[in-house]
Amino acid sequence: MMSHRGATSQEFMRGIQAGLKTVFCTERPVFISTSSATGLMEAAVRNAGRTKILSLTNGAFSERFAQIGRACGFEVDTYELPWGQAHDPEVLRDRLEGGVYDAITMAHSETSTGVLNDIRALAAVAHDFPDTLVLVDSVTGFGAVEVRPDDWGIDFLLTGSQKAFALPPGLSFGVASHRMMERAKEAPNRGYYFDLLFFQQNHDKDQSPTTPALSVLYALEVQLHRMLTEGMETRWTRHAEMARRTWQWVGEMREDGVDLDIVAPDGHRSPSVTTIRLPQGVNGPDVTGAVIDRGWLVGGGYGQLKSTTIRVGHMGDHTMDELEGMLAVLTEVLS
Ligand SMILES: *Cc1c(COP(=O)(O)O)cnc(C)c1O
Repeated sequence: MMSHRGATSQEFMRGIQAGLKTVFCTERPVFISTSSATGLMEAAVRNAGRTKILSLTNGAFSERFAQIGRACGFEVDTYELPWGQAHDPEVLRDRLEGGVYDAITMAHSETSTGVLNDIRALAAVAHDFPDTLVLVDSVTGFGAVEVRPDDWGIDFLLTGSQKAFALPPGLSFGVASHRMMERAKEAPNRGYYFDLLFFQQNHDKDQSPTTPALSVLYALEVQLHRMLTEGMETRWTRHAEMARRTWQWVGEMREDGVDLDIVAPDGHRSPSVTTIRLPQGVNGPDVTGAVIDRGWLVGGGYGQLKSTTIRVGHMGDHTMDELEGMLAVLTEVLS
């Protein structure tokens, strides 16, 4: 460890910040929080909210965003969809015309269902309502698919370290727009630990607001180097290819008489995770257990989809070869 105050750590933080700006496609500071991503979800609503928030929900994590808003004392309306569907920009427009909201929240890639929201189109609609800030949970979006917070007018984009970033858990990252920082100044309920003004003041001194998870920052430095070496566009392409291969495999299994289904509709599928509905009578935990017995790991279903689905995570530093290895094992288990 080194001291987190002083010239050595400041130089270290400057180096990390330069890499972060490149991978996040932003000119804004990238705030680093020593919390899991849920912490920055709380930061998002606390710094953007005054009284009323609209939460777009279509799965477990977007529902969590709504719960956080309520827990922080805001009045939260929802544009609620059944799990597995993606939000429609024109329906969002109707909802925004029907109320006055300080912010909207949404999940970019809904990790419970594998649905990818078109955050660019949704943000574009919100921009017709100038008081409404756009808060995006991109925990399994960032790093796997193109995200341009500045160009797309995302007021707060957040992610965690342990998903598509492929780092150990313990950190989360947030990019706040200029308007978000202006809003934070007047946000009555922004608290202390997640006060973005506190983050900004320390960022300006190349420091973290409180003691950072330094050991994970060392890992971050290494991972940023790997990401920059691969290149973000190449990284996005690798994710898209792994996702397509997974969807194709589902088709092959169906041809062989194994009745699998992809939960997310075509055109709204996440490049980082595919939630697969199992044949009638096949129990999710039995499948994940049988895969573990063969020395591999596949994700279990989440929340209300726990027993009926499994989730293939094709994100982070995974390769096509690894994916093929896992799919071969899964084929054996399901046949
Ligand atoms: C994992 C996840 C979270 C929560 O992340 P933590 O790091 O556990 O706080 C939030 N949103 C999405 C979309 C996730 O996949």
